[in-house]
Order: sequence, then C-alpha cells, then structure tokens
Amino acid sequence: MSPSALPAARDRLRVAIQKSGRLSEPARALLASCGLSWRESRDRLFCYGETLPVDLLLVRDDDIPGLIADGVCDLGIVGRNVLAEQILQRANGSGQDKYREWRALGFGGCRLDIAVPEGWSWGGPAQLQGKRIATSYPSLLQAWLREQNIGAQVVPLSGSVEIAPRLGQADAICDLVSSGATLAANQLKPVLTLLQSEAVLAGPVAPFADARAELAALLLRRLDGVLRLKHSKLLLFQAQRQTVPALMKLLPDAEPPTVLQVDGADTVALQALCHGAMTWQRLEDLKSAGASGLMVLPVERMLA
Ligand code: ATP
Ligand code: ZN
Repeated sequence: MSPSALPAARDRLRVAIQKSGRLSEPARALLASCGLSWRESRDRLFCYGETLPVDLLLVRDDDIPGLIADGVCDLGIVGRNVLAEQILQRANGSGQDKYREWRALGFGGCRLDIAVPEGWSWGGPAQLQGKRIATSYPSLLQAWLREQNIGAQVVPLSGSVEIAPRLGQADAICDLVSSGATLAANQLKPVLTLLQSEAVLAGPVAPFADARAELAALLLRRLDGVLRLKHSKLLLFQAQRQTVPALMKLLPDAEPPTVLQVDGADTVALQALCHGAMTWQRLEDLKSAGASGLMVLPVERMLA
C-alpha cells in the first residue's frame, strides 16, 4: 500500500500486540479486562474478536509502529522506547508522523540509560565526547547527543549491546535497563537516563473516519476505567459524624465519600473510593482516629 493511500474502510478494529516477549501476556490481560475475548487461529498470528469486533494481530514489537503507519492495523501495544525511536527515524525521512502515543498503560516499565564501565569515575555527559556508544536506539541517542552538543560516535547494534564494551566495539552503551542486573553482570553502571519507558497504546494521528472511530472510543473508555481502578479500592467504615473531617484528612487520595446516617444518634457509615494503596498501617491510623468496622473491597469495573 502506498503511504499516501487512505486505509480501506473497516468495521472491525485491529490491535497489534507482541507475539511473544515481555509485553505479550500483560497486553492480552489488559485487553481481556476491557471485556475482549478472541478465537485463536491455528497459526496464532490473528485472533478473531468474539465479544466485540476487535481482532488481535500477534507480531514482533518492532513491527507495530510500521503496521499502524501502513494501515495494516489500527492500534498497537508497544514500548514507548520502540515508538519514540521509530517516530524519530521516520521524522528523518518523510517528516510527517502517522502514529502517536494514545495512552500510557502502566506495565513494561524500564529506562533507556547510558551505562559506562564500572571503572570510570563519572564526571557528567561531557565525558562522552569522542567516545563510541553502542545502542539499538540510534535515533534517540543521536537526538540526545545533538541536544547536549556532544560529538560521540553512535555504534548501532541490533542485540547484545551490553557486551559491546568488553568486545572492544564501544566505550559505553545506551540500552534498556529495568533492575540493572544485566549491566552489573557486564561490569557496567548506569549514569544517565534518556527516556522513561513503559508499554503504551499507540494509534494513528488522524482520527478514524468509519466504524472504527466508535470502537476505538469504546476501547479507550474501558481502558481508562481499568487503568484508573488498578490500585483503587472501595473503603467502608463507620464513625461519629464529628470525626469525619479528621478522617478524610487521612484519605487525601479518596473521592468525596458517600455518607449515610446509621441511627438517630451521631453515627454515620461512609463509603469512599480510594486511589492509593490501602495498607494495614493506613487502616490502623484510621481506627486510631475514630473509624470502626473498616472494610476494603476490590473494585472490578467503573464507568464514569
Ligand atoms: P520481539 O521478538 O517482539 O522483537 P524483543 O526482544 O524486542 O521481542 P522484549 O525483550 O520482549 O522484546 O521487550 C519488549 C519491551 O519490553 C521493550 O521494548 C521494553 O519496552 C520493555 N522492557 C521492559 N523491561 C525491559 C528490559 N529490562 N529490557 C528490555 N526491554 C524491557
Ligand atoms: Zn523487538
């Protein structure tokens, strides 16, 4: 398909996710929690949406931005690192972005870091002047070096970046880091973060002009509900009416509570949706401030 051709009108939405890797299972689980289910095909590349006309395409994560740009799929779940790199790469060529980040999804967290041999005493970015830096993210690294006004040589590698310094291919690396264990195992230490990454929902810049518009809006509404509720709990308790203001001060992450009169006296029952972690310590603090009958309930769905 030529880049200028409009995607054919479709009445089903096609979402690309990673076939196998770090993002595959959490991506599926997130979509399933939005009420989607699929019939698996034998080749496991295409899964037909059963509950809604939303199909899955199972691919390599690096192919997802291109598939959206070419109109082969409509949305995709991919690391921000991959999306940002490919946006820059395409910007070097044709100029116009065809896709963008629609939502951050809260899993697959990692950083794109510059790491140097443990033996270096780190004195700041200027130390990279004249050095060779191996990376699988050459566009992001190049853009950062330009911004910092550092003349360094970018050594593009498609994998095993962390062993490049030991092999003498580079002096430093720019790679994805989560725990830092891989770096440490290769006698490297992280010194700078270029990008904070996580899995994102990527979609086209231009709005859909057919039935997909409504399907995408429905999926986004459900996703927002699920993401919002991820750490949310419904808190139920009783208290004397006069203690309620002090108790609510202990719940800065709560929505305005529903307050019900329990008897003719001063006792009230409260229910409040809380968005932060509801730890034992917080419950004990609430009890000390006058709350009783505390109950924490999971919230399964919400439609604002
Ligand atoms: P594919 O075969 O699909 O190309 P891959 O080897 O590129 O797979 P994974 O290693 O599964 O991909 O990583 C997918 C994404 O997971 C990364 O692009 C990144 O966004 C995220 N991620 C989270 N933590 C890490 C990490 N420690 N190292 C690499 N990627 C990570
Ligand atoms: Zn990949």
